[in-house]
Amino acid sequence: MATESGIPDFRSPTGIWASLDPMEYATLSAFRRDPAKVWWFYRKRIEMLTAAEPNQGHVALRELERCGLIAGIVTQNIDMLHTRVGSSNVVEVHGSIRTSSCQSCAREHALSRVQELLEEQDAVPVCDSCGGILKPDVVFFEEQLPAPAIDAATELAETSALMLVVGSALEVHPVAGLPDRVVSRGGRVAVLNLGPTSFDRRAALKLELEAGATLARVVDLVDGRAEDGR
Ligand SMILES: [Zn+2]
Repeated sequence: MATESGIPDFRSPTGIWASLDPMEYATLSAFRRDPAKVWWFYRKRIEMLTAAEPNQGHVALRELERCGLIAGIVTQNIDMLHTRVGSSNVVEVHGSIRTSSCQSCAREHALSRVQELLEEQDAVPVCDSCGGILKPDVVFFEEQLPAPAIDAATELAETSALMLVVGSALEVHPVAGLPDRVVSRGGRVAVLNLGPTSFDRRAALKLELEAGATLARVVDLVDGRAEDGR
């Protein structure tokens, strides 16, 4: 989803990790060792993500939610593009850049405040209450995924007749295990991804197509706007 908004896939050979070692920027231990270095990276990441625009795929999923065809979106993306375009039930299992929290008193700071702090204090933004170091509310390597998000994602999987897997190779657990939960309850899984995924052989449908245009076409078909009706 995000690559079609110009956000590089961090797993691709040309993604951000191709030139940066994730162990230096995206692990909890790296953050504790050198928060200024990690914030240097996050400042750039926040600039890139807030400049990106939702694409027709984000719009299509919002429309499918509005007409009652999808119950919710589970995303590993931290870019907030689904909520920016107006989807309401979005489960962000890897957190997002929406807030950063104080590592001392846990106070949450909104993205807009974090951006101000990054302007004022160019190394590490600190807490408005206690001066503690802020950390983006994004799941770093070595961190647990937020339990409420995993619970919500699991419940969606276990109550869905159909799961659409869009733009994921299904390599990162526990999200990669969600299609299993759908199928084990008698539901079906459709995979829309350029390239193989771990669930291809068990999916009811596998499409190797661009996400945005394909989802937009689904909305057209649902609306009865498509000319050939197929
Ligand atoms: Zn604090």
